[in-house]
Amino acid sequence: MSTFEDFKLNRQLLNAISDLAYQSPTPIQEKTIPLALAGHDIMGIAQTGTGKTAAYLLPILMKVKYAQGNNPRALIVAPTRELAMQIDTVLGELGKYTDLRHLAVYGGLGPKTQIETVQKGIDILVATPGRLMDIYLAGHLVLKEIRTLVLDEADKMMDMGFMPQIRKILEIIPSKRQNMLFSATMPDKVIKLSEEFLEFPTVVEVAPSATTAETIAQKLYRIPNLRTKIAMLELLLQDAQKFNRVMIFTRTKQIADNVFKYLERKFASNTIRVIHANKGQNTRINAMEAFKSEQIRVLVATDVVARGIDVNKVSQVINFDVPIVYEDYVHRIGRTGRAYEVGEAITFVTMAEDYHIQKIEEIIKMKIPEVDLPRELEIYDTPFEERQLMLREIDNQRKKEDPSFQGAFHEKKKRPEKNKKITKKKPQNQGFKKNKK
Ligand code: AMP
Repeated sequence: MSTFEDFKLNRQLLNAISDLAYQSPTPIQEKTIPLALAGHDIMGIAQTGTGKTAAYLLPILMKVKYAQGNNPRALIVAPTRELAMQIDTVLGELGKYTDLRHLAVYGGLGPKTQIETVQKGIDILVATPGRLMDIYLAGHLVLKEIRTLVLDEADKMMDMGFMPQIRKILEIIPSKRQNMLFSATMPDKVIKLSEEFLEFPTVVEVAPSATTAETIAQKLYRIPNLRTKIAMLELLLQDAQKFNRVMIFTRTKQIADNVFKYLERKFASNTIRVIHANKGQNTRINAMEAFKSEQIRVLVATDVVARGIDVNKVSQVINFDVPIVYEDYVHRIGRTGRAYEVGEAITFVTMAEDYHIQKIEEIIKMKIPEVDLPRELEIYDTPFEERQLMLREIDNQRKKEDPSFQGAFHEKKKRPEKNKKITKKKPQNQGFKKNKK
């Protein structure tokens, strides 16, 4: 096994690494750092939790070396403000014994302070694509001295529709530069992007399947409906000692809010927060900080905001819904078992979600072990509308697999139904029609 000394990093960096108590490089660091130091273009396939941030930041810190001039020489582009902030924090930690000036620019706040800091001179810039272009187009930022470009979480950037901004960024920065692209997954669109801008890249990979399987205990519960999912969540969270630092993922903002409201009524409300894209920047930062500093026990989140958040020692990740962007499963459970911690990932699956679980299992190349529902769990009947929705979803899934499939679920045309909400006061079973069995 190699050590950080083997990479011939300078003393300032080695001291910072030692302060962070990193004992030895993680596999992605072991592979990436020597290649990046040698100037290669790199395509890194690694999820959050593997140590990928330091894998590309350490070579950048070596290369940029010390403060010089006014304009940034390295640019790291990331999909979300949370990730941009987190990368900037790691830059601060790793670069603490250097005089390098670094900054993260991202949307959601006024640009004034960011522009002022840019104008004072910076060496390494971290940015979300939209805000980067805004500041550049307003004439506050000179990008002609960029020598290293990193696109972090490229798959997420594609999913979020940042391709046009990324193309513009590639146009305005010098063509002679080193490029690194990191992505948790390699869908076709990311491969296409890498072909466009990487020159003879070396591919470095840490298999998500292996990482997932080795460090995270995964569990799957088959749960018939939303109401029972809520009951299951409540049951699990009663064990506050075991479930002491929990992230709950939901598919939509609405479900996130509903789950949050329910839990807030059941448990001490100051121990639970929710974050999603409709929450203001400050609310999101505060919630994350509170979760990191262990003031709150449970954080409910949607994927978009949760991606890239650096929170260590999450005791459990609970997938309240199965993600339909399958790679998000890997991202979600990457919150637990980060680097060398051991964690647990629990997924609730309805019959309509079974299809998605099978797809996820193909991606992670393993079967997620199924566990029986606890005896004390109250199992509610599935309301008629929810059942219809699920059956329709299953039909659509089958049609997707087999376009000639006519649909087993015949139903008279009705007004489109809305997803059933979690209502505030629902005496058990009332309002739920019994299933015809
Ligand atoms: P990342 O995948 O970059 O988000 O890193 C995940 C976590 O691993 C962060 O909390 C890092 O501080 C931590 N980490 C990164 N490199 C190492 C290392 N070599 N040894 C131990 N922890 C590390």
